[in-house]
Amino acid sequence: LYVDAPMAAGGDVQLDKDQSHYLVNVLRMGQGEHVLIFNGHDGEWAAEIAEASKKAALLRVIERTRAHQPLPDIWLLFAPVKRARLDFIAQKATEMGAAMIQPVITRRTIVSRVKDQRLQANVVEAAEQCGLVALPEVREAEKLDALLDRWSEREGPRRILFCDEAAEPGGSKVALERLAAEGGKGKPYALLIGPEGGFDAEERARLHARKDTVAISLGPRILRADTAAIAALAAVQMILGD
Ligand code: SAM
Repeated sequence: LYVDAPMAAGGDVQLDKDQSHYLVNVLRMGQGEHVLIFNGHDGEWAAEIAEASKKAALLRVIERTRAHQPLPDIWLLFAPVKRARLDFIAQKATEMGAAMIQPVITRRTIVSRVKDQRLQANVVEAAEQCGLVALPEVREAEKLDALLDRWSEREGPRRILFCDEAAEPGGSKVALERLAAEGGKGKPYALLIGPEGGFDAEERARLHARKDTVAISLGPRILRADTAAIAALAAVQMILGD
């Protein structure tokens, strides 16, 4: 169970209404029973249900059962797609261990509003289902142009792996081999995935012109945006080995 609270043996954790309902009504757990909890950055802890209230359950933390597992240092920037597929991207990126996920609004992005809370809920759900103890940070949506303005080519936080269906399938081998040779020691990468209609010509030209950006192909077939996000994460993870 995810709880947004500091953890310490002997400490109390107050659950909110939704979590209390989930624990008591859905999982049908009662006072004295044990539950595993995590806050995304401090491993996993066993806790005892001290008060099984349906509106405000209280947990008493017993001990740490698993250490924190740091995430692979990969960010995922993706153009938001329609709701169910956006949920899918957030869930799968969490399972695949992305350290940060951020929707980027491109010129052909159709979806006008992205709910951070919904993304966060999907992240938490995926982590709970898979017993993960680390969560990706969810950042607010930002326009691609603004993000590229903000990230200087030399000083930006990341190099960009621009997933480009028009890139030469063989060409990305060089980029990925370089990534493998660095063994995760160079400046880390952010994957960038476009919307249903792809990036427009201006965006593509801007990305291709940047020194901190490498275009990679995920094969000669065009993938759906959500599939591309997962395929790209899998490719980078295989290289980094984590
Ligand atoms: N129309 C489909 C959809 O609705 O999902 C396909 C969209 S595809 C243009 C969306 C994004 O996925 C692209 O902008 C690119 O970032 C990524 N992508 C898809 N296939 C790819 C490939 N073979 N290589 C690299 N990136 C790819």
